[in-house]
Amino acid sequence: MIVLRAFKTELDLNNVQKTACARHTGAARYAYNWGLARKIEAYQTGQKTPTAIDLHRELNALKKRELPWMYAVSKCAPQEALRNLDQAFDNFFRRVKLKKEGQWHAPLGFPRFKSKKRGLGSFRLTGAIHVFEDAVQLPRLGRLRLKERGYLPVQGAKVLSATVSEHAGRWFVAVQVEMVLPDPVITEKPVAGIDLGIKTLATLSDGMTIANPRALKSSLRQIQRLQKTVSRRQKGSANRRKAVRKLAKAHLRVANVRSNALHQATSQLTKTKSAIVLEDLNVSGMLRNHHLARAIADVGLYEFRRQMSYKGQWYGCRILLAEPFYPSTKRCSCCGSVKVAMELGQRTYACDGCGLVMDRDLNAALNLEQLITASSAGIDACGKGVRPGIPAVLDEAGTEPQFTSG
Ligand SMILES: [Zn+2]
Repeated sequence: MIVLRAFKTELDLNNVQKTACARHTGAARYAYNWGLARKIEAYQTGQKTPTAIDLHRELNALKKRELPWMYAVSKCAPQEALRNLDQAFDNFFRRVKLKKEGQWHAPLGFPRFKSKKRGLGSFRLTGAIHVFEDAVQLPRLGRLRLKERGYLPVQGAKVLSATVSEHAGRWFVAVQVEMVLPDPVITEKPVAGIDLGIKTLATLSDGMTIANPRALKSSLRQIQRLQKTVSRRQKGSANRRKAVRKLAKAHLRVANVRSNALHQATSQLTKTKSAIVLEDLNVSGMLRNHHLARAIADVGLYEFRRQMSYKGQWYGCRILLAEPFYPSTKRCSCCGSVKVAMELGQRTYACDGCGLVMDRDLNAALNLEQLITASSAGIDACGKGVRPGIPAVLDEAGTEPQFTSG
């Protein structure tokens, strides 16, 4: 099986290299913003919207006359930024279409101008990229050291591109490769239903739970404190800038801790199960939530589902989604009766019909698992079935930045 896979790891840059990378992000940002302005202008004056190729040609002519500084960076940086811009417009028009069909309830998200205030951003390079045990060699930038040895695949992978990005003062490289994975061996493995939550990351129908990393809770408290400090500092002051930098670092740490926990959980689950049922997610309901922990958990849910769907393919585990309105938390997993309401704070499920008393999340996970046994037996457990698989398009939607707001 040939798969596309990205490996992201931290760079160990010296000051000269940091400056060179910052210059590349600058060129990418400039090209993106210039291209966006050109597209908007063309639309307003009724001309045909220029594509990435048109814009690249135009930018090259401009480079000779007005932008000599751009010769100091690889030509890939602006070129790939213009490609990203085209992609941003494709995504935007796809959402417009979905909205017309009544399937999109979140803001449409017209492509925005990139600002250095929101971080330096990133740039992508293609062409002669070489990966070593402890370094990566990129066009124009030369050999850059890595903080972790042996993480990037040195052999058996074809490198397609490399993206260098800055987050809270640290630099990372993501290498996209095409590699051959062994086809999954079909063996008898158990099936499971999984309930995802804030308190516990995941509850399995076999009773196993995957806890949220402990570091997450204290980091969240730290973020709330730092956020308060930022808002107390005077706008435009040096102290506010310092506070903002601290806050960005704390946010990065939460993101890293969370991402690591998600990757470990999704790998373990897809390797040990033959099929898994997840609940479908209510997008519009989540976007209205402004609670920090909830917001971060929500982002995690999309990422969890996205990782499950591609890792499921790698390791031979079917991923199924319950119907959006399947009452997994309100239904009794023992007798099947459905409650009218189930308060969010209610941690145990108590059935009035059969007297079952059980942990709320475990009950939900069991209900999800019963969907799979019901569907394979040809019977519908609750009058609702299981939707097989996750279409590739939905997959992409899960990674869109729109979902991170709130
Ligand atoms: Zn019951």
